[in-house]
Amino acid sequence: MSIIIDGKAVSKKILEEIKLETENLQNKPCLAVIIAGNDAASKIYVNNKQKTAGYLGFESIVKELPEDISQNSLIEEVEKLNRDENVHAILVQLPLPAHIDSSKIIESIRPDKDVDCFHPYNTAKIALNMETTLFPCTPAGIMLLLKEYGISAEGKHAVIIGRSNIVGRPLSWLLLNNSATVTVCHSKTENLADFTKNADILISAAGKPEFVKKEMVKEGAVVIDVGITRDTDGKIKGDIDFERVKDKASYITPVPGGVGPMTICCLMKNTLELFKKYHLKT
Ligand code: NAD
Repeated sequence: MSIIIDGKAVSKKILEEIKLETENLQNKPCLAVIIAGNDAASKIYVNNKQKTAGYLGFESIVKELPEDISQNSLIEEVEKLNRDENVHAILVQLPLPAHIDSSKIIESIRPDKDVDCFHPYNTAKIALNMETTLFPCTPAGIMLLLKEYGISAEGKHAVIIGRSNIVGRPLSWLLLNNSATVTVCHSKTENLADFTKNADILISAAGKPEFVKKEMVKEGAVVIDVGITRDTDGKIKGDIDFERVKDKASYITPVPGGVGPMTICCLMKNTLELFKKYHLKT
């Protein structure tokens, strides 16, 4: 019988702590979000971020820019926010329109306002295990869930499916920094199950609905599902075949209600952290 990891509850607890801390601040943290284009899912995500920021008592700004904005104009918008003394945290919602080079936009964000922690300066610090308090939101959320449930990564074999810059890659560094033995699998990995079957901690971030089957999971493994895919009738599915895997895992995250709520929670945590670094020089 496995324990279902309740990301919603953990996230709620952390958000309430942030809200309380914010109430006692004279100035309020300000999160600025840039969204370019008309991607429906992105609009929902940005709306949720703005709502959560408002709930916590943060200031928030959303800059909606047209789909056909040029790369230079987009960089100019970022630079305006870089210069704005009242903005502590900047997020550029991904994906950007196809003609924009996302890496150039991420590089234009001031590293000390880079709330997603995607700037090469910030990611390098994490990869090198240098002193830092900010981490990319989804990997940070996963590490917080493990901590909350008393699951240590030390000495464990952690297998990650997916090597994206926002999930798999930075998560591999965080797990390595926590003394796990880490294997990163991806779309070119041969015989994926040979790796997943050996995982003490298995994390899937491939975006392939229910493709991790029971026979791919080791008995007693901790199973973390990052995947979010909407099926034809609008139902949200994770990467893990939850109903069958749950009896084999020791701990497992559901979708929805697992990693998802932790991502937004860590975004707010990072916003507060950047504010404190700026105002309180922590
Ligand atoms: P991505 O498309 O950038 O990366 C997917 C990765 O999976 C790639 O590295 C690819 O090599 C790997 N992959 C794909 N098919 C594979 C296969 N059959 N075997 C092994 N590896 C395979 O996606 P992403 O942005 O990293 O997101 C991954 C999933 O996580 C998506 O479903 C996304 O919606 C979800 N996501 C959820 C959260 C959250 O808060 N829960 C946050 C970010 C992303």
